[in-house]
Amino acid sequence: YLSSQERRESNARSYPRRIPIAIKEAVGITVKDVEGKTYFDCLSGAGTLALGHNHPVVIEAIQQVLTKKLPLHTLDITTPVKEEFVEELFNSLPKEFASRAKIQFCGPAGADAVEAALKIVKTATGRRSILSYQGAYHGMTHGSLSLTGNTGPKEPVSGLMSDVHFLPYPYSYRCPFGQGGKTGEQICSQYIEHVLNDPESGITTPAGMIMEIVQGEGGVIPAPDEWVRNIRTMTRRREIPLIVDEVQTGLGRTGKLFAFEHSGIVPDVLVLSKAIGGSLPLAVVIYDESLDQWSPGAHAGTFRGNQMAMAAGLATIRFIRNNRIDEHASCMGERLMSHLKAVQKDYGLIGDVRGRGLMIGVEIVNTRLRPDSLGSYPADPKLARQIQQECFDRGLILELGGRHGSVVRFLPPLIITPEQVDQICHIFAEAVQAAEK
Ligand code: PMP
Repeated sequence: YLSSQERRESNARSYPRRIPIAIKEAVGITVKDVEGKTYFDCLSGAGTLALGHNHPVVIEAIQQVLTKKLPLHTLDITTPVKEEFVEELFNSLPKEFASRAKIQFCGPAGADAVEAALKIVKTATGRRSILSYQGAYHGMTHGSLSLTGNTGPKEPVSGLMSDVHFLPYPYSYRCPFGQGGKTGEQICSQYIEHVLNDPESGITTPAGMIMEIVQGEGGVIPAPDEWVRNIRTMTRRREIPLIVDEVQTGLGRTGKLFAFEHSGIVPDVLVLSKAIGGSLPLAVVIYDESLDQWSPGAHAGTFRGNQMAMAAGLATIRFIRNNRIDEHASCMGERLMSHLKAVQKDYGLIGDVRGRGLMIGVEIVNTRLRPDSLGSYPADPKLARQIQQECFDRGLILELGGRHGSVVRFLPPLIITPEQVDQICHIFAEAVQAAEK
C-alpha cells in the first residue's frame, strides 16, 4: 500500500509522510492499520471528525440515503434532506445571527467557502482589499492562499491577490508587543486601530476582514474574548464586514457550538466546513442578508449539494445538539489541558500549552539556545517532529502546526472519553521523556 503512495502521490503531500500507515479500519477515536496495529487518532481529519470515525448516527444516516434511494446528486435543486439540514444548522446558530442570515452552499472544501466569502464581501461593498492576520490559514486555492499568512506555499505562486494586508494576531506567547497577556493584546488591537487610521498605511478601505477565533494551522492560538470584541466593535464602526472562518473551530470543537460565541459577538459572514459534513465533504457560507447583493448565477458550481454529506451532517449536528457534545468537549478539553500543563512542569522543552476546548497546542522550544528579546526560547521544530514520531510509535497520531511546525496539535474527536484523554496524555508524557534524552 505504502509503496503506491511513495511512487505515485504528488510531492505536495505533507503530513502523511510522517504518518506512514495504510488505514484499514476506523471506529470512534481509533484507527487500525493493515498490519493490525491500532492508533488513537488525534488528528481526526484536521478537526473534521467531530463524532469520531463511523459514528452509528452517521452510518445510519448514510445507509438511509442508500436504502431509501434518496437522490445522490441534484445540483442545487432542493431535497427534504437539504431542507432539514439547513433548518438544523440555522437552529444551532445564535438567533441574533440566524434570523438575518442567508446560506450559500459552496463546495466541497473549506477553501471553496472562503472563496465565496471573499466574493460576497467584495460584491456587496464594491471594495477590493481584505484584512487578514499573521499566522492565518484559510486554504490553498488562489484567493484563500492569498489570505493565508504562511509565506512558504505562497512564494512559488504568482498572481495571488495583492490587496491583502496582514495584521498582528494576539499570539501572546510570542507577541511582539509584550509577552503573556493583556498588555500585548491591548497594544495589538490599538496598533490595528492605528494602522487603519493612518492615511499612509497603504490600506484602502477594505471589503472585509477575515479571522479565525482560534488559529488552527497557525499554531493553535486562541484570541482573547476581549480582543475579539474590540475587533468586532472596530469593524462595525468602520463598516468593514467581518468574516469569521470556523472551518476548523465550528460545531463544538472549542467547547461552544461556534467559537465566536465565547466572546458574544456575531460575524457578518461565517465560513463552515469540516465537521458540518459529518465526515463527508461539505462547505457553506452563512452571511447577513444585507450582504446578499450578488446576482443570480454569480456563484455557480457542480458539487455544492452533496446529499450524502448533508444527511451525515444533519445527523451529526443533531447528535451534537441533543447530547450537548460541545459541553462535553469543553470538559474533556479542560482535562486534557490540565494533564498537559502538568507534563509541562516537568519538561522545559514545553514552552507553552494553550487552546480552547478540544483544540490544544503544545509549543516545543529549544532551551539550549538563548531566549529571544521577548523572553521566549526559540521554536524547536526538530524536537517537535521527534515527539510526534515517539507518539506515533506508541500508537498516537498527532499533527504539527505553527510558525515553524513546532506546535504539537491535539484535535481528537469530540466524543473522546475521560479514560481516553488520560491514556493519550500518558503516551504523550512518555514520548516527551523519550525525545528529551
Ligand atoms: N480555514 C481554516 C481555518 C482551516 O483550518 C482550513 C483547513 N485546515 C481551511 C480553511 C481550508 O479547508 P480545506 O482544506 O477543506 O480547503
